[in-house]
Amino acid sequence: MTPQTQTLPLADRATGLVGSVIDSSTSLLAAQTHDIVRFAMGSPAAEAIPTQALAEVSAQVLGPGAADAYDYAATEGDPGLREALLTMLEGTSDATTADRLTITSGGMQGLDLANKLFVDPGDLVVVESPTYTNGSATALSYQAQLLEVPVDDEGMSIDSLEAQVEAAGRTPKAIYTIPTFQNPSGASMSLERRQRLLDLARQWGSIVIDDDPYGMLRFAGEPLPTLRELGAGDPLVFSVRTFSKIIAPGLRVGWVDTAPELQQLLINAKQAMDTCTNLPAQRLVAGFLRGGHLEEHLAAQREEYRRRKIAMQEALTEHFDGIARWTDPEGGFFLWVSFDPPVKTEDLFPVALAEGVAYIPGNAFSPSQAFPHDLRLCFATTPPDRIHEGVARLRRAVDRLGST
Ligand code: PMP
Repeated sequence: MTPQTQTLPLADRATGLVGSVIDSSTSLLAAQTHDIVRFAMGSPAAEAIPTQALAEVSAQVLGPGAADAYDYAATEGDPGLREALLTMLEGTSDATTADRLTITSGGMQGLDLANKLFVDPGDLVVVESPTYTNGSATALSYQAQLLEVPVDDEGMSIDSLEAQVEAAGRTPKAIYTIPTFQNPSGASMSLERRQRLLDLARQWGSIVIDDDPYGMLRFAGEPLPTLRELGAGDPLVFSVRTFSKIIAPGLRVGWVDTAPELQQLLINAKQAMDTCTNLPAQRLVAGFLRGGHLEEHLAAQREEYRRRKIAMQEALTEHFDGIARWTDPEGGFFLWVSFDPPVKTEDLFPVALAEGVAYIPGNAFSPSQAFPHDLRLCFATTPPDRIHEGVARLRRAVDRLGST
């Protein structure tokens, strides 16, 4: 709590509202005037935003005469978007039915709804370590107690999960996982672990919050079934999805796929929150899908992100061989770099910024600040030649930090 709020009659839950280092980076970086290679934010590349197609669709669906597109929408989502989304998902691992679908204001609202419906103060919520801390912050905002379970190359360690739950002496209310191209590690949970996770959740009666925004951005390796598919028909799986990474984050349009018996509760919760998701944005997304733009767009994105990931691997090998280790994701936006002590990535950050490169320090991905020697790099936002330049700058920053 800040000194200014101490005299106000705040609710207990307000103390659980932790800020996001990840989100704060947006304004921090916007305030910089010198040339910076930006590996910090998890946004699609500017040139990967399909502005031309969106402009065409916008002229069709939001032009003069489209006053109804500016009205309130049905809370569960605009019928046109719901229909286009069902079609888009047909034949994929996320194929679903209308009675399971609720349109949300981005993935974050899906995470908020999951925690709102299931988490009481003091409940145990499992999160990955490292994790997307905006997600764990949502659990904290409902006064959850977090249990941080390590992630390795195959995703969340299910052996550790079992051991830690046993040691905690009580079962979790929810398990929050980012199973595919995890933010921040880039790791994907193996099929065997996905199945074991679902088995344990069933045994414990825990909700699985399946947050999978990057799954459609696979550029290497074999596809894995989503937890949504593996848990088909299981009311414990609460799947959170978003258009933020596959079209654009500023649209703030996503969806949740849940047991049908939850839908009315979701509608009630959303009505008490934001009435409906921004209708012009829903119409824009629906038009984009109906116009057949997504497949072509995704194919181009996958190919470009593959090139960028390779460029980053090459640059890291050139500049950091022997002094750091890093992950090799098969999709998504991020990889994770681990230094040995004494490199502290929070101390490195201002030096790197001065050198002209930005990243997010590892501790930003851990409620218990367990990653002082790690950092997250987003390869998606930067073209290959700039990636090489940015990684070279990062190496210079490490050398400068070491010599101070
Ligand atoms: N989950 C994960 C793992 C993410 O990386 C993000 C975006 N960074 C979100 C959820 C939030 O998505 P949205 O921007 O649609 O709210």
